[in-house]
Amino acid sequence: MQRKLLPNSKSLFDSARKVIPSGVNSPVRYYAPYPFFVKKAHGSSIWDVDGNKYVDYCNGYGALLLGHANKNVIHAVKKRLAYGTLYGAPIEQEVDLARLISKLYPTMKKVRLMNSGSEATMTAIRLARGITKRKKIIKFEGCYHGAHESMLVHAGSAHNSISISDGVLNDFARHTIVVQYNNIEQLESVISKNNDIAGVIVEPVLGNMGLILPEKNYLARMRKITKQHDVPLIFDETITGFRMSIGGAQQYYGIKPDITTLGKALGNGFVISALGGRNDIMDQLAPNGKVYAASTFAGNPVSVAAAISTIKTLIKSKSKLYPRLAKYTQEIVNAIGDIADDLKIAHQINSIESMFQIFFTSSPVFDYVSSKKSDTKKFHAFFHYLLKKGIFIPPSQFETAFLSSSHCEADVLKTIAAYDQALRMVR
Ligand SMILES: *Cc1c(COP(=O)(O)O)cnc(C)c1O
Repeated sequence: MQRKLLPNSKSLFDSARKVIPSGVNSPVRYYAPYPFFVKKAHGSSIWDVDGNKYVDYCNGYGALLLGHANKNVIHAVKKRLAYGTLYGAPIEQEVDLARLISKLYPTMKKVRLMNSGSEATMTAIRLARGITKRKKIIKFEGCYHGAHESMLVHAGSAHNSISISDGVLNDFARHTIVVQYNNIEQLESVISKNNDIAGVIVEPVLGNMGLILPEKNYLARMRKITKQHDVPLIFDETITGFRMSIGGAQQYYGIKPDITTLGKALGNGFVISALGGRNDIMDQLAPNGKVYAASTFAGNPVSVAAAISTIKTLIKSKSKLYPRLAKYTQEIVNAIGDIADDLKIAHQINSIESMFQIFFTSSPVFDYVSSKKSDTKKFHAFFHYLLKKGIFIPPSQFETAFLSSSHCEADVLKTIAAYDQALRMVR
């Protein structure tokens, strides 16, 4: 269906495959038969090289909370560019940004700026191991924390984790214990039976297995158990930071993690992430501490300018912005739920604040196993019908759709109409 419609994208993809492995620079960007290539994006819209316009719900996988080419952010970056782009020496604005983050995330007493979510979680885990002198990290099946050794693991039998990538040694994987999200008993049992747990890392709201919400009191109990056993709790707020609320999921649920990672929405499309936590933990970082982390581009002036502008814009607009995002999301979710009900399509819709996802399954989705019951073939067809109707959601069932501050009522109506037609096609 798409093959005939997007000749320019197809031709670019054919060229790309010859010089870029699989034709894409990150695996999730690929979908069959080939992805559309982007010409430009503005606000809630994205245009492909074949002249089609889409309402964007991929939003850089959640990074663009303020929409594409936000004028404040672009202005701040343009102004900064005139002063040079990299110094290898500190600037005042790094201090400003760390202070801003610390104020909105009081658990992040000290903050190190980094470039990607992966880098931040990799360092968070190293820190947890460094301060506790213990080996094992607990993660939850379906949570994604970036593409590095200790996180590219799957649950195997009897808590024997296995690597999910060639090149990641099972020798590494076995130091990561994988448990089920929303299963507090399993977490408690693993922590109490093992005195070698260096840390627990979690996406407080799971945005990388479709969208999965924490059950009532789940995060509070996780906090209580980890504290009782003196195990550092790492909130990976790479998606939820600034999105669940300006203070992330920790503010939304009132939980105080020991270590937090931020990414995606922090720079509204610019390359930046942050790692922060308790003073005693953060002080273990080199050069004063013995846990090493370093990067040429960390805290680069361009990304820092983008992040400061993003946060200031959010602070100014938050009282209207967050309720509006939640309202639009709810409108979409209610409408498509009614349509799917009328069409008698087995489905679940999970949503919170500015995130939502539909799953084609008749049973509730609350963890990895229940998420995997979804009909992914149906989702793939559904995704393509939506594209045809001018709606771009992430191509995988196991991702989340994101709204931005640029989405308007007209987008919402267009989206509902497109979901209606796409649902009829996959009925
Ligand atoms: C995207 C993501 C990461 C990885 O961030 P990158 O910037 O892609 O390295 C880590 N954790 C979570 C929860 C994410 O969604």
